[in-house]
Amino acid sequence: MELMEDVVIVGAGIAGLATAVALKRVGVRALVLERSEGLRATGTALTLSPNAWLALDALGVSHKLIPLYTPSPKGYVTNVSTGEVREVLYPRQGIRTLHRKVLLEALAEELATDSIRFSSRLVAFQSLEQGGDASMAAVHLEDGTTIKSKVLIGCDGVHSFVARWLGLAELVHSGRSTVRGLAVFPQGHGFKQEFLFFMDESDKAGFVPLNDRELYWFFSSQGEKMSGEAEKMQRDVLEKCTEKFPSEYLDVVRHADLSSLSWAPLMFRPPWGIIFGKLSKGNVTVAGDAMHPMTPDLGNGGGASLEDAVVLGRHIGNSFINNGALIVPGDMAKAIDDYVKERRWRAAMVVTASYLSGRMQQGDKWWIKFLRDRALYKYFFGWLSRLVFVYDCGRLPAISFGAMDLSSKKD
Ligand SMILES: Cc1cc2nc3c(=O)[nH]c(=O)nc-3n(C[C@H](O)[C@H](O)[C@H](O)COP(=O)(O)OP(=O)(O)OC[C@H]3O[C@@H](n4cnc5c(N)ncnc54)[C@H](O)[C@@H]3O)c2cc1C
Repeated sequence: MELMEDVVIVGAGIAGLATAVALKRVGVRALVLERSEGLRATGTALTLSPNAWLALDALGVSHKLIPLYTPSPKGYVTNVSTGEVREVLYPRQGIRTLHRKVLLEALAEELATDSIRFSSRLVAFQSLEQGGDASMAAVHLEDGTTIKSKVLIGCDGVHSFVARWLGLAELVHSGRSTVRGLAVFPQGHGFKQEFLFFMDESDKAGFVPLNDRELYWFFSSQGEKMSGEAEKMQRDVLEKCTEKFPSEYLDVVRHADLSSLSWAPLMFRPPWGIIFGKLSKGNVTVAGDAMHPMTPDLGNGGGASLEDAVVLGRHIGNSFINNGALIVPGDMAKAIDDYVKERRWRAAMVVTASYLSGRMQQGDKWWIKFLRDRALYKYFFGWLSRLVFVYDCGRLPAISFGAMDLSSKKD
């Protein structure tokens, strides 16, 4: 079977769905291809900082989520080796923690049902040159379907097929990994709406309320593989933490909803691979983790993916509007190039800030300990987090559907 689409997005994660919503807002239909049978919410919850909420606002989705989740204005970091407790104040409106599934569904329900095609794994694709900068993409799916499209956006996550095709720098393993999940207290957990972190030289753990009954918790350690059965992951975390982290944290882990547990090695793309890498070729580009996988130390991979979506939507939208509601392949290459120019440095900066923040929090070298104890929370963390959190990716262009009869346009 061979199909034709204006825009194909590979991956129905945060980046893919948000990009499809951004394009829909500017009048462009996109087909999202997802290899799974439904929306995947691995990791169960995530934190979103003010930059992410501005992007969600631009996408017209924030109003559905804000009433469901209370922001955390601050957190406390306890260094269990020294006993020191630091208060960390978050900028502007605080940070909200939400269920991933709720975020994905809030994005997906903005789209027409036929614009997400599940069980559709991309297995190969070719770029078909059209002369000049213009190109078309021929996407081949596992089920034998071929889809030709004028624009192809790889939102296919950390091990992106499209990023490999573009020749982007290989991922680097940070040497750390994280177990995360939900804890459920049917009678209420009684914690305030604040982050509580605990750390020593090698491990870091923490939790934050999602609501009165559920907490999102994590345990991050150096280099150890903790995947496997959920019970085993929970047991391993408890074993490693019993001696050093406080009983309130252990109690949270004991209340884990085992079906929510997951383990992830923490990978990132080196910032120079983003600054100097080929983030697009003709009408093919990447967004989200496919472009800028990062360690989760500032909780911003999802936020940066939402920013990508708005910026990409803006550039494609402007081209679409200027061309009288047409996707003109030659002009799309320029729109995508402008998107890459706008995102490259921001993405590299967020990856770097996240890495430095994690390295300082979990390194056990003497100079890292020195910097952590003397400067990290006093000066450095506030500065890094402001760089990442206090950022506005801008708005989408306004489009008047009345003035533009999209259905009658043919190219
Ligand atoms: C431990 C941990 C904690 C984190 N915490 C936070 C946090 O608190 N806040 C935050 O903002 N970010 C956080 N992140 C980062 C965040 O999870 C990611 O940045 C975000 O999920 C990226 O979204 P994405 O859509 O780019 O990729 P993904 O969510 O990975 O989605 C990619 C999608 O593409 C699909 N796909 C892949 N290959 C193909 C193919 N060949 N064909 C079709 N479909 C395909 C996949 O099935 C998947 O659905 C964390 C990450 C980790 C590892």
